[in-house]
Formats: sequence, structure tokens, C-alpha cells
Amino acid sequence: MKKYLLISLLILTTTFYGQHLQKRTLKLMGSRFDITVSANDSVSALSYINMAINEISRIEKLISSWDPNSQTSEIIKNAGIKPVKVDTELFQLIERSLAISKLTDGAFDITYASMDKIWKFDGSMKTMPSKENIKASVAKVGYKNIELNKINHTVFLKLKGMKIGFGAIGKGYAADKAKQLLISKGVKAGIINASGDMNTWGKQPNGKDWMVAITNPMNKNNAFATLPISNKAVVTSGNYEKYVTFNNVRYTHIIDPRTGYPATDIISVSVFAPKAELADALATSIFVMGTDVGLNRINQLKAIDCIIIDKEGTIHTSNKININKYD
Ligand code: ADP
Ligand code: MG
Repeated sequence: MKKYLLISLLILTTTFYGQHLQKRTLKLMGSRFDITVSANDSVSALSYINMAINEISRIEKLISSWDPNSQTSEIIKNAGIKPVKVDTELFQLIERSLAISKLTDGAFDITYASMDKIWKFDGSMKTMPSKENIKASVAKVGYKNIELNKINHTVFLKLKGMKIGFGAIGKGYAADKAKQLLISKGVKAGIINASGDMNTWGKQPNGKDWMVAITNPMNKNNAFATLPISNKAVVTSGNYEKYVTFNNVRYTHIIDPRTGYPATDIISVSVFAPKAELADALATSIFVMGTDVGLNRINQLKAIDCIIIDKEGTIHTSNKININKYD
């Protein structure tokens, strides 16, 4: 999987200092998840892991746009027709998504999803889409056309053909919720790793911080930094797994909502933040904003950092990160 190349976590799955580290790997939300918990014994560790799995599956049912029975699909079916009443949880996820759209000047936009008729990143596209088709589809994109009613908890997509998708925030949200649940059950330390998106809490059984090794995807065998992550998330978006190439230009699966064209200038972005949800959304957004605007925006946010690798292979870091310090 792509992010395994970029970020690998240094862990031991064994009993250590009286704490048992247990890891389970499985597919959830269409991605590989590795769930690691630290517990007194393997039986309780496995039961905690099952709680996390149930929580992530529950969220997947709510936010999936593939599942025709999800509330998200109900919203999409009623685009341009009528508002749909949804659970508070989904309503609030959409509210937070809109706040991130504002924070990123529209680079992050869950209504990007109507572009999925035009751009396909599964190898099925043979020709570049026409300007006219892109223009017609991008007319359906725009977070300002999502109407929320706080009293009735309804969501209305104002334009017919509008769609929403949580591809850039859902895994982060699910990882935060699973982490929160395990903490509330008394689990002292663990990692929810969603295809390389790491969400950690507590410390390794030896008392040290969890560490992530960051490698340049252009030179995969060589980690350029190993950074401690304590009680936070590090999430990576990359251009090297889902993309399509036309005329030697690599178009990645992240779409600029303002133009309808995929981002082309960045290879990978890793964002460090207290919550995986925000890290997930910001990593995607920086692809769209580009290196300069992206760095500028991150430097204005407290407790958030990023590492960007541009298409020339140059590494850029936000002000608070000093990768040399950890070499
Ligand atoms: P991955 O899901 O591969 O880890 P990301 O977190 O970067 O990667 O999310 C990319 C996904 O986000 C795309 O596959 C798509 O579902 C969705 N997406 C694409 N462009 C945007 C955008 N501008 N705003 C919000 N979501 C987007
Ligand atoms: Mg993301």
C-alpha cells in the first residue's frame, strides 16, 4: 500500500514491560487498517481491537457513498429535490467539512464528488476528458450549495446532480472516533493506522514516544527523518497510488474544486495534527493549494505541521518542523 512506503511505524508486537502489544490488520472503509493496542493481556487487547473495528464499521455505514442504504446516499439521491434529515453525527461531520472548506478557501470540498463521473483513477480512463465535460461537471461542485438546517438537522444539496463524498476526511474521522472509544474504555496506548494515516495515543511500553519514519516516495529505501508522535496524528496524501497519466502529466485523485482538474504539482503531503480528521482533510487540501499557499496556511495554524514533497522532489517543511533535529 502506498503509505507504507512513505511512513512506517516502528513497533514491537510482543509483551514488554508487563504490557501486551497486540496488532490486527484488516480491510475497513475500502482501506487497510492496522489496529494496535497496549493492554494487560492478549484477551483484553483483542476485545479492545474488536470494539475499534465495530466503531469504524458503524461510521462506514453512515458516511459511505457506495452503500445505497447510507444516509449519505440518501442526501445524494435527493439533490435538487428536497432536504434529508440525518443523524447528528453526520450533520456535524458535514458542518466541520464546511468549516474546513472555509479555512482552505474552498480547496477542501466534499462536493468534489460529482467529478467522479469525469475522472476515474482505477485504470479505466483511456482519453483525457473534454473541457466541456469538465466544465459541465464542475458546475455541480461548490460547498456553498450545501444547505444545512441546524434545527431540523437536514442537509440539502441545492443542485440536481450534486454529490458529496468523505474520501478525504472519513478515514481520519473514523480513526479519531475509534481512538476516543478505546481511551474511554481505559486503553492507555495504541495506534490506529489507516493505510499509513497514523493516529496514536499514549506511549510505547518502554515509555518512549511512538516514532514514525518518513521516507521520500522518490527514494523509498531511505528514510529522511524519524519523528516522535505523541498523542497526535500524522496523515499522508500521495500522488503515487491513484492517478492517471495523459501527455506525460500525472493527474492524481485529488481534484481542484474550482477548476475540476486534478492536482499535478505535489508528490506527497504529510500533516501532523492533534486530530486525524483535520490532518486528513488538510493533507488533501494542500495538494490543491500548492506548496506556497499550503505552507503559509499551515504556518498560521497552532499545533499543526506539514512536510510537502513537490514534483521536483524538493522537501518543504512548515516552520515548526525541524527534520534535521531527528536525523
Ligand atoms: P486517500 O484517501 O488515498 O488516503 P486523501 O486523504 O488525500 O487520500 O483523499 C483523497 C480522496 O478525497 C479522493 O480519492 C476523493 O475521494 C476525495 N477528494 C478529492 N479531491 C477532493 C477535494 N478537493 N476535497 C475533498 N475531497 C476530495
Ligand atoms: Mg486526506
